[in-house]
Amino acid sequence: MKTDKPQTIQDDVIVTLNYTVKVDGEVVDTSNGHEPIEFIQGLGHIIDGLESNLYGMAAGESKQFTVKPEQGYGEQDPDAMAEIPRAEFPADIPLEPGVELVLKDEDGDEMEAHIVEVGEENVIVDFNHPLAGKTMDFSVEVVALRWATAEELDHRHVH
Ligand code: ZN
Repeated sequence: MKTDKPQTIQDDVIVTLNYTVKVDGEVVDTSNGHEPIEFIQGLGHIIDGLESNLYGMAAGESKQFTVKPEQGYGEQDPDAMAEIPRAEFPADIPLEPGVELVLKDEDGDEMEAHIVEVGEENVIVDFNHPLAGKTMDFSVEVVALRWATAEELDHRHVH
């Protein structure tokens, strides 16, 4: 196991990162007010456009860059919409545009979705990622770097 700290971001480094994502100048996601995120670089656990821009950055360094949909959450899939009768929703779910849902398919697998439109009979639900089709402006700050341990690499996650 390597004992010295990595000087820059490369594969198998555990990155502690603060980030803010803006779309059209509006903050859509941020670690501000939360813990920074931690992940192993090079495993594709974060979107391509973020991971590729981090290589070579040092602890304490900040950077701004733009990520296109193809390097982000992909394009909007117009087929990933569904019309669901209002009666199928539990009473405690507020039926309003923008509300995030976790739905189960026939196999019991969970799928994330959000409400786009509420009609008298039906609710239109979108299974696209809310940031699909969006060009994202990132601001990142590298908080800390360390080598992943052999066990962390084996498990493919941060301990
Ligand atoms: Zn583990």
